[in-house]
Amino acid sequence: MAKEENLECSFCGRKKPETDLLIAGMDAHICDKCIEQAHGIVQEEISDSKSSGLSKELILKKPLEIKSFLDQYIIGQNETKRAMAVAVYNHYKRLLQTKEDDDIEIEKSNIILVGETGTGKTLFARTIAKMLNVPFSIVDATVLTQAGYVGEDVESILSRLLQAADYDVDKAQRGIVFIDEIDKIARKGDNPSITRDVSGEGVQQALLKLLEGTVVNVAPKGGRKHPEQKFIEVDTKDILFIAGGAFSGIDRMISKRLNRQAVGFSASLEGGKINDDNLLKYITPLDLKSFGLIPEIIGRLPVLSYLNPLDTKALRAILTEPKNSIIKQYSKLFKMDDVDFTIEEEALNYVVEKAIEYKLGARGLRSLCEAIFTDAMFELPSSDEKELNVTKEYAEAKLTNTTLKKLRAAS
Ligand code: ADP
Repeated sequence: MAKEENLECSFCGRKKPETDLLIAGMDAHICDKCIEQAHGIVQEEISDSKSSGLSKELILKKPLEIKSFLDQYIIGQNETKRAMAVAVYNHYKRLLQTKEDDDIEIEKSNIILVGETGTGKTLFARTIAKMLNVPFSIVDATVLTQAGYVGEDVESILSRLLQAADYDVDKAQRGIVFIDEIDKIARKGDNPSITRDVSGEGVQQALLKLLEGTVVNVAPKGGRKHPEQKFIEVDTKDILFIAGGAFSGIDRMISKRLNRQAVGFSASLEGGKINDDNLLKYITPLDLKSFGLIPEIIGRLPVLSYLNPLDTKALRAILTEPKNSIIKQYSKLFKMDDVDFTIEEEALNYVVEKAIEYKLGARGLRSLCEAIFTDAMFELPSSDEKELNVTKEYAEAKLTNTTLKKLRAAS
């Protein structure tokens, strides 16, 4: 039998005295360093296999299940939930189709969401990405310019997605990109020959290929996995694009079109009457064209849906109902300091009332809460008081007029 000090690790060859620990097996030994290294490899393999198993898990989520998932985070907006659930389901069915299937190729179901700012367009895109566990990035269409102009090329969209995927190209290629403010790159006016807005239309043209599917050379902008590479090839054919915009004024175009239709075919609308509390529900691709999106872009965003403005009931629900609602988050923050936090119904209604009065929308709910709870969050962690019950009077006292005006100015 070999002497103790002559024993060596069968993997790296280190002698026992050079190791902190040498474990004996049947016919071999392994040192602590090799165990550590092997553990790292195992962890990496496990996480890789989890991400490549993605498509297998995806088929299990049916539209109904996708909608239930969305219900946990998003209040109301049922039409869009259904449209998104079907679009996402079809998108992943498309990813699962094999080349040999047949020659019916399923096209991409990129999505366009129309609705006022703060109605949850970004939230929809983010929640879908969370559900699918795929990389997600947001770009603002207003910063994009045609190649050769000052600003960001459309390719920069993909640099961000790569960054979100930690430079894992495969992952990025199955990610979701939210293009915000797509309405801002609309052509001004329906008739291109009269008012030709070159930069807006140019960006739309540049976006076309990306939406449809193309291989783009992307500058990685850092990233430790490809430090030596100048460009990384990214194929956009399986990336789901969700575009969003307020399309302010589009309701007038919808109304004009509806009235025009109603003259000729009075029975063409349900019951012959236009319900105009939210004209967006009648939106069609034609209206997007009137607004100034080029037909090719509209064709590549085939799923069109709209968001309703948030009323008192919706705002009240947003405060407490979503899985990670604002109030649940504050409750958790207080709990971490062992503070028992409660808020009365009247106080919640007061917050909603102020959000509406000062036109702060859903985004304002958070700033209002922040203004109400800041003093408590500052004082309670170092005090013996372990209870906070927020009444309407407490909220009123914290929300001075100056604070409210400041919030309105910032919104
Ligand atoms: P948009 O992209 O339409 O401007 P966001 O998605 O950024 O709007 O929404 C603004 C804020 O309002 C976010 O904090 C979001 O969580 C909240 N919000 C908006 N609509 C809803 C909703 N229907 N349910 C839950 N939260 C919402």
